[in-house]
Amino acid sequence: MLRTTNSSLNSPIIHALFGGTFDPIHYGHLRPVEALAKQVGLKQVILLPNHVPPHRPQPEASPQQRLAMVHLAVQDNPLFTVDTRELQRQTPSYTIETLKSFREEVGEQCPLAFIIGQDSLQSIHTWHCWAELLDICHLLVCSRPGYARQLATPEMQKWLEQHQIDTPASLSQKSHGYIYLAKTPLLDISATDIRQRHQQGLSCDDLLPPSIQNYIDSQNLYS
Ligand code: ATP
Repeated sequence: MLRTTNSSLNSPIIHALFGGTFDPIHYGHLRPVEALAKQVGLKQVILLPNHVPPHRPQPEASPQQRLAMVHLAVQDNPLFTVDTRELQRQTPSYTIETLKSFREEVGEQCPLAFIIGQDSLQSIHTWHCWAELLDICHLLVCSRPGYARQLATPEMQKWLEQHQIDTPASLSQKSHGYIYLAKTPLLDISATDIRQRHQQGLSCDDLLPPSIQNYIDSQNLYS
């Protein structure tokens, strides 16, 4: 059961979710979200490893391996918890459906936020029912090197400006509907690059936690 108020401050808790394929999870996921959490005052971030449907290009690691790596990455970090509802689904894991199930749990009034990187914001118009996302949650956006803050079309830029807020304090005053572009550390790391570096026998030491590196080696992943 998710809590809905921060009893010591008597203000609503912002429930924050961060979805990804996490093949593997890396510092480019963890560090910007930790910085975002500080800026916004998030007490907890729920990591949601995706179910990738059979007709889409499959992650190299199995769902169990991706989940194991997510658990290892956050086991000593109280900011993060892990939710497996998308992985348990047999149907496509549309973000909108996941958000609706969290909304039912937290109730109508509680602020709910979905965290994405700037690259995901750039392509958000390709997501299933994307225009409904802000009817359910706020969007918190982490910077990502190589992806502009300006959106690609005038229509998308207008949509962004209609919903964008400049101060995170507004996020706890409404349950959904805002977009906050956080200034987070720029880490030029991608899971694709990590998989390729592994295949080439190159070091990934600065790119992901040692526990994940050890797991990848022990499972002979990405070789
Ligand atoms: P891949 O290279 O396999 O596409 P990825 O590294 O982009 O993977 P995902 O699991 O697809 O990782 O990303 C999950 C979320 O994390 C997305 O919202 C994405 O925008 C964000 N993200 C991933 N890497 C970074 C990064 N270096 N900086 C900021 N956000 C990131």
